[in-house]
Amino acid sequence: MFHTIGRRLAILNALVVIAVIAAVGLASYLYLARKIETQADAELRSRSSSAVQLWTDTFLTANDPGVVTFPADASSSEDSDDDDSDREEHDSDEDEHDDSHSDEAREIVRSGDTIAFAMNLQGSIVATLRPVDIEGLPKSDSVDRAIQGSIVQETITLDGERVRLRTEPVLADGDIVGAIQVGMGLGPNEQVLDFVRMSTIGGLVLGVLMAVPSGWLLAGRSMRPIREAFARQRSFVADASHELRTPLTLIRAEAEYLQQSPDLSDEERAEGEAAIVREVDSMASLVSSLLQLARIDENVPLASREHIEFSDLVEATVSRLEPLAAEKGLTLRQDDRLAGGTVGDRAALQQVLTILIDNAITYTPPGGSITVRSDRKSGMDVIAVMDTGIGISQEDQQHIFDRFYRADPARTRAGGGAGLGLSIANELMKAHGGRIEVESTLHTGSTFTMVFPSS
Ligand code: ADP
Repeated sequence: MFHTIGRRLAILNALVVIAVIAAVGLASYLYLARKIETQADAELRSRSSSAVQLWTDTFLTANDPGVVTFPADASSSEDSDDDDSDREEHDSDEDEHDDSHSDEAREIVRSGDTIAFAMNLQGSIVATLRPVDIEGLPKSDSVDRAIQGSIVQETITLDGERVRLRTEPVLADGDIVGAIQVGMGLGPNEQVLDFVRMSTIGGLVLGVLMAVPSGWLLAGRSMRPIREAFARQRSFVADASHELRTPLTLIRAEAEYLQQSPDLSDEERAEGEAAIVREVDSMASLVSSLLQLARIDENVPLASREHIEFSDLVEATVSRLEPLAAEKGLTLRQDDRLAGGTVGDRAALQQVLTILIDNAITYTPPGGSITVRSDRKSGMDVIAVMDTGIGISQEDQQHIFDRFYRADPARTRAGGGAGLGLSIANELMKAHGGRIEVESTLHTGSTFTMVFPSS
């Protein structure tokens, strides 16, 4: 289950990284492309107006009936010697130098130089800025639209290179006398675009290569506490089921025995029934401990908060448990001087103290003694329960606050504990902002101390 979640998180992480890189790359690409076109348009506008000025006379003569001037630009004079030849003648001249011309044309487009054509009202070229023919130029449909009065701005592709074109009408005394088309290869500027495109693709590849393993690693790390909590919960359920099954098995065995033995004496039958009641009681107490832990796990706040004098708390608890201690041949006493106090839930703190004294009674052999004292030292309030019992090894001291942990399962089962007392007591103390400390020496005795936060 955690594997699948980890994989999904890793994929999600990669998708987010890819989406971010792609979005940033695309936005930069579109922004730059737009900027390049805007700059090219501004450049073309100024080139166009200077070309119009340069060629104004040409337009006027070109539109006189029967006169075709071709080409008129100084730079294009070397293009053709015969000024009187028509367009077709010019084209056939070009065929002979086709290869060198098309190379030159490609170079002009690629270098980002400006190209310009002037057309008369019939759409025939009357002047060019460059001495070469560039296939596809001038773009005749745009020229037609310019002669109709429109300004056309567009980007076309020539020989794999993008070229920005501006075609506009030329006016003389308010009348359209021709059209001018200026173009500029976007190649040099587009190197930046290529760079953005390549770095976006590179970023995407790198993003995938890095985001998947790093996502996997992060998912694994962030899920560790969840995995541990899940494992704890699972073993808690398993332990609880096991603890409940034991008394249930005993109850069933006892009940079956009573059922199948009609000849039992009244005394024997009463003994069997008492055993069943004992097991039911132990189950009931286990179930209420489990419910209490479940409530603690939900972080239910303390039921009440009142000022509690430790002397009251200790006296009440000790006097309630004294008969139990006496029954086991133990001396349970409280210190003469009980000091200290806290603000908290009286019932909860009474339960903690009861658990500690109850354990001391359980784990102290007959003849031993248990002393309860309370104190306030250097601003710290404590209640300590000291016994002369069996003690707890260093190793076990690390685990006694774990749920269902028993230092000696065989013996403690007989004593009736399910290993939940200290964990409940510890949680209740944590809810008060305090803790339980333990000091113990095997075969000598133990001291459990309830430590409250300084008041
Ligand atoms: P239990 O219900 O078994 O008493 P606890 O959580 O109260 O469970 O205690 C956990 C374990 O800690 C006990 O099983 C016991 O082994 C050990 N323990 C607790 N208190 C004492 C004590 N006063 N002296 C010796 N061992 C103790």
